[in-house]
Amino acid sequence: AKNSGGKKAQAFQQHVRDDIGSMQKLQLDLTDAIRNGEIEPWFQPQVRLADGRLHGAEVLVRWRHPTRGLLTPDIFLPAAERAGLMIDLDHAVWKSAMDLARGWQDADVWRPVISLNAAPDTISDPYLIERFLRAVQLSGLEADQVVIEVLETTLINGKDDLASINIDSLAECGIALELDDFGTGYASLSKLTQLPLAGIKLDRSLIAPLPDHAADSVVRAILALAAELGLHVIAEGVEEDAQAAHLKERGCNVGQGYGFGRPMPPKEFTTWLSANAK
Ligand code: C2E
Ligand code: CA
Ligand code: CA
Ligand code: CA
Repeated sequence: AKNSGGKKAQAFQQHVRDDIGSMQKLQLDLTDAIRNGEIEPWFQPQVRLADGRLHGAEVLVRWRHPTRGLLTPDIFLPAAERAGLMIDLDHAVWKSAMDLARGWQDADVWRPVISLNAAPDTISDPYLIERFLRAVQLSGLEADQVVIEVLETTLINGKDDLASINIDSLAECGIALELDDFGTGYASLSKLTQLPLAGIKLDRSLIAPLPDHAADSVVRAILALAAELGLHVIAEGVEEDAQAAHLKERGCNVGQGYGFGRPMPPKEFTTWLSANAK
């Protein structure tokens, strides 16, 4: 019995080692991937509900891995976070996205407005403002053409921590901030008045059950609160026409979801734009 227990423990340790081994490999690969241009910004349309016109696009990272194929964020972001790579990853994605956006602007396809996701580490980075504003300037886009989406979990600390100082600076520089995944957290309501937010993004979990009566009550209450506070509202995960119609009727500003368009690689989004942006 003792022997078989030992074997089990050994097997378990080997399993853990393999796991850590592949994690370290993923981290090394990711560092190379950023350097080699395997990290791509994909774009998902955000549509104004009132008139169906394009409002903006959210930038969503993909990793075109040489052997493992196309990887979505759920596969590599947790490892990137643990490896402390999120700051470099975010800036790499943002830069490529801004360069592409500048191309659309120059080709006169669209005056782009792009929403960039930011990891908690990226928001607390002491070099955030310097690095980001310089990148915006180099891209030739105006401050009102880039939006930063922040997660509520970024902002659990006090008024004087680096995250809130950075957030205040971004807002002072004219960068709009949106609170992502609104409706999933626990401290959302107080954050709405404490932060210099331009808008909120209603989480997909609030949109999916619409037009169910209970879900509708929650959405209506949030929209009323947002209107009171002067916040712009984007609904995420809009898949059905009926959801879009319902949200429009309730006065929600913008819809985003498979019902309007999936996240697309740059080339496909360029084609999509020429059919949909004017
Ligand atoms: P998120 O910011 O909440 O992004 C929305 C997610 O919902 C995206 O998943 C998008 O592809 C997906 N989605 C959009 N419309 C629909 C719909 O109608 N139905 C359903 N079921 N899903 C929809 P994705 O691209 O896999 O990204 C997952 C998360 O990874 C993002 O959630 C965001 O938190 C994070 N992320 C993505 N790109 C970046 C990035 O460049 N930097 C950072 N820091 N995080 C990123
Ligand atoms: Ca987001
Ligand atoms: Ca979200
Ligand atoms: Ca999310």
